[in-house]
This record gives sequence, C-alpha cells and structure tokens, in this order.
Amino acid sequence: MRPAAERFAGHRQALAAKVLAAGVKHHKTLEAIATVPRHAFLDAGMHPQAYEDTALPIGHSQTISKPSVVARMIEILHKPRHKLGKVLEIGTGCGYQAAVLSLLAEEVYSIERIRPLHDLARAKLRPFRINNLRLIYGDGILGLPQAAPFDAIILAAAGLGIPDALLDQLAIGGRLVAPVAKNEKEQQLIMVERMSSQRYERTVLDEVFFVPLQSGLV
Ligand code: SAH
Repeated sequence: MRPAAERFAGHRQALAAKVLAAGVKHHKTLEAIATVPRHAFLDAGMHPQAYEDTALPIGHSQTISKPSVVARMIEILHKPRHKLGKVLEIGTGCGYQAAVLSLLAEEVYSIERIRPLHDLARAKLRPFRINNLRLIYGDGILGLPQAAPFDAIILAAAGLGIPDALLDQLAIGGRLVAPVAKNEKEQQLIMVERMSSQRYERTVLDEVFFVPLQSGLV
C-alpha cells in the first residue's frame, strides 16, 4: 500500500494506540491499522473525525465500522501461528476494512449489496493499487460459491443468524466472525470454527452494534 499523506501518519499511529488500548493485542492487525489512511475512505467533511475510534456515516444509511471492532474481528479470525489465506468479507461499505484485510491475508473477496457503495469503494481503493483484493457487487448472504472455500469469513452487518451458505463455504479449520442480533436492541459477536464437514464450534464474544444484514440488491 502506498504511504498516506505524511500529515496523517501521526494520526494513524494514534488510532492504532487507541485500538491497542481497547484490548486488541494482535501485532500485525495493529500494524495494519497504523498503515491504512482511514480518512481516504471518508468524505472531506468527516476527515477531522477519521482517526477517532468511532463508527461514522458513509451514506445510504450505512457506516464505516468502529476501528477497534474491525481490529477485534480480524484478530479473532487469526488462529494462533496462522497467516490468513483466502478471506471473504460481507459488507464492503466504503472499503476500509477490505484495505486492512488486504495487508493481512493472501487474497480478499469483498461483497457489497448497495451499488453506489460498491462503486464508491472501488473509487476509494483505486489509488492504493491493491492486487490481492476483489470487490463484488452481490448479496453476501449467498456468499461467493465460485471462490469457496474460504479460510476466513467476516461479516460487517448483523443478521438474525449466520447464513447457511456462508457456513458451507467455510474451509475445514477455517473461522467465521459475525455480529448476530439477539433481539431488536442487542447484538453479539459470534465466532464459528469449522472442525469437520459437519461439525462447527460456536463461541459467543462481545456485545456489539452493527448495521443490519439485508437480502437482495440495491
Ligand atoms: N466493511 C465496512 C463496513 C460497512 S457497513 C467498513 O470498512 O467499515 C456494512 C455494509 O454491509 C453496508 O455497506 C451494507 O450495505 C452491507 N450489507 C448489508 N447486508 C449485505 C449483504 N447481504 N450483502 C452484502 N453487503 C451487505
């Protein structure tokens, strides 16, 4: 990835420090947070807030996720002493998390269901010339069978459960991390590890707040 404008270098380091303070320990993930210029994924009006550890609006009633939550989810995807191989992201949004993942994984596929956001992410990501990232306009609930199986799957939007297609497309030994709605107000981060073709182990983690996972294309 091309270095960001130097005037933001200190901001990126400071954001990584906030993510560390929020409890994320995985060194390479912290390094990636310190590398990706988050302001480049936001409108100019949002630049003053770009390096705060908060979610921010990106249009179409969607948000760029909170950096410490992005980092926490990516940390969870990493099995001890394993590099990330092929990763599927559901919910590209403006492309920030996809850019972070591209620094940590061999290959990244990212799906977005809102056409203008898919186009926005493409435009925001173009200057970085990331060659291990593919953006797909589609319904992530269906996954991406043509590129499966995935070593890791990450959902940036909360459904009522985890879509079956995504569980099917997870490689054996792979991990999936997703926010899942408990009711209208509460969501939990869930990690699923595929132990064999039929056996999945589920771990309930933190309370979180994400935009909803919706079906169909816009
Ligand atoms: N990854 C983003 C977060 C974007 S917010 C980041 O870097 O901050 C979550 C995104 O999920 C929204 O853009 C929303 O449109 C998208 N989304 C919701 N349901 C989806 C689905 N079924 N398929 C693909 N994208 C979906």
